[in-house]
Amino acid sequence: MTRRTRFTNLRISVRGDETSPADLLVENGRFVEVAPPKSAPDESDEETIDCGGRIVLPGVIDGHVHFDDPGFTHRENFATGTRAAAAGGVTCVVDMPCTSLPPVTSRANLGAKLAVIEPKAHIDFMLWGGVSENALEDPDWRRNLADIAAEGVGSIKVYMLSGMDTFRDVGRSQLADILRETATLGIPVGVHAEDRELVHGLTARLQAEGRDGPLDYAASRPPEAEVSAVRTMCELAVETGARVHIVHLATGRALDVLTEFAAAGAPVSAETCPQYLAFTAADLAALGALLKTAPVVKSAADRERLWEGLTRGELAYVATDHAAGQWPDEKHTGSIWTDYGGVPLVELSLPYLYSEGVRTGRITLQRLTEVTASEPARFFGVERRKGRIEPGLDADLVVIDEDESWTVRAERLHNLNRYSPFEGHSFTGRVRATYVRGEPVYVRRDDGSETFGEEGFGRRVRRETPVS
Ligand SMILES: [Zn+2]
Repeated sequence: MTRRTRFTNLRISVRGDETSPADLLVENGRFVEVAPPKSAPDESDEETIDCGGRIVLPGVIDGHVHFDDPGFTHRENFATGTRAAAAGGVTCVVDMPCTSLPPVTSRANLGAKLAVIEPKAHIDFMLWGGVSENALEDPDWRRNLADIAAEGVGSIKVYMLSGMDTFRDVGRSQLADILRETATLGIPVGVHAEDRELVHGLTARLQAEGRDGPLDYAASRPPEAEVSAVRTMCELAVETGARVHIVHLATGRALDVLTEFAAAGAPVSAETCPQYLAFTAADLAALGALLKTAPVVKSAADRERLWEGLTRGELAYVATDHAAGQWPDEKHTGSIWTDYGGVPLVELSLPYLYSEGVRTGRITLQRLTEVTASEPARFFGVERRKGRIEPGLDADLVVIDEDESWTVRAERLHNLNRYSPFEGHSFTGRVRATYVRGEPVYVRRDDGSETFGEEGFGRRVRRETPVS
């Protein structure tokens, strides 16, 4: 039986900051028509969803989350992570391979993870695969890599600097080996790009001096660490022909380097995250471990350069690097060096970008839909299925209360460990409802009460097209 839904009384982004009234007709989870309001005849079996005149945007694809399941579920799990995502207007997440056990470095490991997380997902999801130094110890690592690519992972994660024993970083010659394989497989590589030797050397020196403040941590991971690592990756992309993507880019000069290589035709791109667009080292000094991330937040000039890059298209999209430590224990260990690095942001990214990006005039509404939806869809090879409000694509959408002002309270978030560097910040614009394949996964009513869709409704999505 065909299931028909009409989303009505809404406005969609058309170009720049312009919106246009429309009806969205959905059949069996996919858009079939973007029609002028009330123009198409009502089908008798059609369900109508009145969006109250609000803005409707394509559902957010968060290309970088750590939901830690299975293995580190004291930090996050797939149910709480996807629930928070739904409340943040996210309709698809791409989960990292390194913060679950076993890591997603082989077909068997991927299957083990899927068996655990699929029944928990509130929204659709993709997986990252990965290659670590641990994985390279298996003489069959090339076959494992080909296997996970064939399983439809969105991209392959590697670290030039990792803090994880279960997913160790790799050196330059190992990177070159990996990139030669991924170039053949037609799958992109996402890189944590910071210079291992530089950071290890500085960390050892600062710790030996007994320095233990937030800014000492920042000093251990200076801009140069990112600049030189990004340059190395760009060179390797040129050398091997592999498609390389820099995850969580935080430094203005690193973006300059990337932009230079991209302009010369190198197959490179980058994402940044809300924390690097919003905060600086001064905030880190005040917030301490609450804002500890890797890379670390940088200067106000870096922050402005990232906004500029987002506007110009030098940065492809925004992802969150959502990673929650056990609160409060892992964030208050008594030393900045051992405090958990990572912040949970999957629920706040869209509200932040709408409020501080679109409403302030830094980016247009149209650009917002690109950096949150259509560009990540393209990167992960699902652009024929997700990322735009267009006939034939999954009816993934988010309804925004554009004028509602609200204050972030971590205790009201929906992920497992609730803390936030945005605590007390006020945003204008709030998620009202989120739909995945035409079905509600999150609805907030006038009285503030909320409902979520079912666990297990979310489906795994595979990469469909080779990377461009
Ligand atoms: Zn990450």
